[in-house]
Amino acid sequence: MNKIAAVIVAGGSGSRMGTKIKKQYLKLKGKEILVHTVERFSTMAQVDEIIVVTGQEDIEYVTELLKETYQIEKVKCVLAGGKERQDSCYNGIKGVSKDIEYILIHDGARPLISEQTIRSSIEKVKEYKACIVAVPVKDTIKQVDETGKVIHTPKRETLWSIQTPQVFEKNLIIEAYEKAKQNQVIATDDSMIVEAFGENVYIVQGEYTNIKITTPEDLLLAERLI
Ligand code: C5P
Repeated sequence: MNKIAAVIVAGGSGSRMGTKIKKQYLKLKGKEILVHTVERFSTMAQVDEIIVVTGQEDIEYVTELLKETYQIEKVKCVLAGGKERQDSCYNGIKGVSKDIEYILIHDGARPLISEQTIRSSIEKVKEYKACIVAVPVKDTIKQVDETGKVIHTPKRETLWSIQTPQVFEKNLIIEAYEKAKQNQVIATDDSMIVEAFGENVYIVQGEYTNIKITTPEDLLLAERLI
């Protein structure tokens, strides 16, 4: 059996939610968003350990929440994140156990991820080494210059909206993050870091319901979907 870790990044400030409490700790059906997210992975037999990344100031609270209040035994540790999402991911992947072969990186703010999608991404990574969950875009997407003029309309059938989890062979993602650090590569998602070094990344079709809770409207939608 391959050993698999989930790295759940929840080290953002969540400022677009406009609430005093950071968005990952707001409640959805009476339970913290981050707890919902972690439970989606902890209940799966294929996932061996979970690393959670939070702000330095939240480590104690989150450790207590996950390990004592909810007794989620697969949580190996809660680590401090960094300034950007990329820094938080790097800190998280460095925390996985030696014998781990594959790492799923997932946003703490996506509590609606389904077991089916997690399972499909695990199956696919064993063959392709780097896989990302995505859905086909529904709208036509335009590329626009700084004056607002449309410069290009890519074919809609070629466009996908990228979510998480993003799943990688452990050695591949660790090496890519190390090289990215040395070469100061900036990326908005993990797969960009892998792509930057010429590796192929493949899509796993996910679900539109796997939303990232960012603004108050998202929270209302999530309440209805969960
Ligand atoms: O900011 P955004 O919504 O894109 O963040 C996606 C995920 O990355 C969130 O779960 C957030 O908590 C996490 N993140 C992080 N460290 C940062 C910024 C974001 O762990 N510095």
